[in-house]
Amino acid sequence: MRIVVLGPPGAGKGTQAVRIAEHFSCADIATGDIFRANVAEGSELGRIAQEYMDRGDLVPDEVVIAMVMGRLAEPDCAAGFVLDGFPRTVAQAEALDQRLAELRTPLHAALNFEITEEELLRRLVGRAAELHRSDDSEQTIRHRLEVFAIKTRPLVDYYARRGLLVNVDAIGPVEVVTKRILDDLLDMNRSGE
Ligand code: AMP
Repeated sequence: MRIVVLGPPGAGKGTQAVRIAEHFSCADIATGDIFRANVAEGSELGRIAQEYMDRGDLVPDEVVIAMVMGRLAEPDCAAGFVLDGFPRTVAQAEALDQRLAELRTPLHAALNFEITEEELLRRLVGRAAELHRSDDSEQTIRHRLEVFAIKTRPLVDYYARRGLLVNVDAIGPVEVVTKRILDDLLDMNRSGE
């Protein structure tokens, strides 16, 4: 399976991406986690990414695209992947499409996590208290939600036009949301046959 996961910060993408990747025995690639690991290591990539992350801005497309294309060339991705947090802009989505077209391994689905703003703020404030993420202050959270609305939300139409969009009701217990996703992917597969 080759899947991308879209949705605002706090929608539960990371938790579900791990579970979906496990279900299909494929690679789980979370760009935010890769950046955070690089920041912790003090690598050059981490140094570049940190200022954008701390502000709640997106890391520039060329930096993210190069990193993800490198990651997709690793052997574990041959079994498929769940991309969590990429693409976040139309330019990133186009770069991904182009690479997958060259490899003749197109995407199967784009999961779009839908959640109310009220539930989102409740979760993000909870996560800030729990994890002490430097990008989880209230002001940065608001900015990240704005960036999502402006730069990432257009991807919903982008994937809908390509017949790949699967809307996911992201409110509910973790295992219930996972089951919804797996059922939807199964339905999509059936209707595509
Ligand atoms: P996340 O853990 O997915 O919320 O990502 C944390 C931060 O990493 C984001 O707020 C961005 O600064 C950066 N980041 C992660 N993925 C991307 C991406 N695809 N494009 C640009 N920046 C990204």
